[in-house]
This record gives sequence, structure tokens and C-alpha cells, in this order.
Amino acid sequence: MLSSVVAWVPAPAAAFGTIDTGGQNREHERITRAAVACTARTGSLRDCFESRSADQLAGQGKRFGAVGSPDLTEPLNPAAHCDDGDFLAGDYVRTRSEATASVLQCVDHLRGRFREAADKAAKLLDTNGELISAEVNLDTDCGSDSAQEQRAKCGSLESFGRALHGVQDFYSHSNWADEADPGRPPGADNPPGLNLPAPSPVLDLRGRGEPAVPADLATGCFVLHDSVPGVEECALRITHAALNKDLGLIDPKTGEATNPTTSRGKVGSNFARAVAGAIEETRRQWRDFRAELEARYGAEKASLMVCALSRDRPLDDCRAGSFPTAVAAGVLIGLLGVGAVLLGAHRLIGRRRRMPSGLRTR
Ligand SMILES: [Zn+2]
Repeated sequence: MLSSVVAWVPAPAAAFGTIDTGGQNREHERITRAAVACTARTGSLRDCFESRSADQLAGQGKRFGAVGSPDLTEPLNPAAHCDDGDFLAGDYVRTRSEATASVLQCVDHLRGRFREAADKAAKLLDTNGELISAEVNLDTDCGSDSAQEQRAKCGSLESFGRALHGVQDFYSHSNWADEADPGRPPGADNPPGLNLPAPSPVLDLRGRGEPAVPADLATGCFVLHDSVPGVEECALRITHAALNKDLGLIDPKTGEATNPTTSRGKVGSNFARAVAGAIEETRRQWRDFRAELEARYGAEKASLMVCALSRDRPLDDCRAGSFPTAVAAGVLIGLLGVGAVLLGAHRLIGRRRRMPSGLRTR
């Protein structure tokens, strides 16, 4: 199965890498883990993803995970990877409005995935607002085929991961955060870099209106024969091959990015900037997703949903009343008085660290 998939996916070209061959080092997985997976240092604080849940979102071993799914099922859809938004000021084969339209198609596509993820989260809860066991069960890994995969947790993570894939690609495939090669003349093979920070207002996935697109923003034109100079549809255009910073080594714990292997990625700190931007953007989207759930379903249900999506044992950790809230813990400790103080700050901190996100907003 995997070998046929690997043969079929236009692998190194489509995106930050998903797999471990063809020059790819599971870049999407590592970016996603660095952004939102729980670590020994953070414990389960800050709504991070625990181990099994992070595996479903980021992929693990030979599994693509939700963030890798666009490389599996929509590798040639430019909107899923923010491709084909190329433009160069001056004499160029495309107009600014054509390039902007391509960028906005990507934004619309990713907004659709983001909304899908919020829609599917509704099925985590029954009509009484309680978690449904079968919907959050991870005894087996999530399937990437949404027609076969019925679990609400898997479905919501699948759509959210697809949105993450696109926003991560934006930093690799565009000139938003990078710089041109100062040693070569500007042109389609060396477009200007915008050196802009993350997160990007272009990627406001909760928004409904058209985001403002900078006049010099470009993403690369992509065809299977990805080359510099471009061929076929991409003749005379800025290509994905010229602009991408897809490949290199990323530390999944710290996000440190080294050993870039693409030509644009090797210029200055372009690869590290693209990865840092993608990590920051992934965190922003997870924050925005939590805000979207709260706006749609109210604070109480949203906090339970966030807990259910990010915790490995939501039935134990997320049910209302199974853990004291921050206020209740404070009252309890007050009642216990000196004895509780003698337990020491260390154990209090340990308790707070285990407090589920599903209850924190209360
Ligand atoms: Zn991609």
C-alpha cells in the first residue's frame, strides 16, 4: 500500500515532506509536533496534543496522519498546497489579479477544511453535552479515508490537519517569510522575498472576507515536471522548484531547522524562517480553532471538545466533575489548611499540570 502511494505521490515536489524518502524527512509531521504536541517539559498544559492524539494529527512511522493527507488524496490540487500564486512585478506572463485569485482559492479551500473540522466536532457530544465513547475511541488509528472513518474525533482531526498542511505549505511555497538570493539578479528564478512575520493575516481561516494580499506575494507554479526554468503550464513563470523551502531537517521537539536542501531554502536562513513561520502559524490555527468552537458551541461544550480532541483518554480526563476545576482545587486546598501546605508546592504544581483543558475555562 505504502509503496504504491509513494510511487504515485509526486513526492518531493508537492510540499514540505510527508514521508521519509525522496529527500523528505517528514517535515509536516515534525512541524506539527513542534507546534502543538505535548512534551516532557510542558506536560499536558496549554491544550497540547497527547501522544496518541498527536500521532493521528501529525502522522507517525509509516502513517501520513491528517496533516499528510493532502499529499495522499489531493497532491495535484494547487489550492490544497497554496501553489500557482506566482507573480513578478514588471513584464510577467500573469497579472497580479490572476496570482491573487490563486492565493485566495487556497485560502477558501483551507477555510472549508477548517469549518469542516468544527462541524465534525459537534458529533463528539450527545444531546446532553456528554462525550460519546465511540466517537473519541483511539484503540485503532484513525483512517484517512473520511468515507470509511466514522469517529468524530478522527473526522475533526482529519479536516483540521488538512487545513494545517496548507498553511504550513504557505510558508514553504511562498515568498512571505523569505529573502531572494542576493548573489543573483532578480527574476522568475529569483523572485523578491517579503521577509514578513508569522502568523499571516492572509491565513485568517475564521474570516469570511477577502484578506489583503501583498503586491509582491508569490507562490510557485507547480507541475509534475517541476523545474527551473519552468516547463509546460509553468513556462516563463516562478516555479515551485525555484521558490520552495520544503526540505531539510527539523527537530520535532524544538522546531530547530537545519540542513536545507532546496536552492531557495539554502539562501540565508530561508529554511529556518519557513519552518518557524509554519510552526507559529500552526499554533495560531489551533488557537483560532478553539475560538471557533467556543463561538459556535459555547464555552462549556467547546472546552470539552478541545479536551476530547487533544487528550488520549478523554473519558477519564475530560468528563465534567472527574477533576476539580481551578477554583474548586483552591477551595479544597484552603479547607485542608496547613496539611495541604505541607504537601508542598511541588505536588500542587503537579496536580495543576494534569488538569484537563476541558475544564480550564470554568
Ligand atoms: Zn503540500
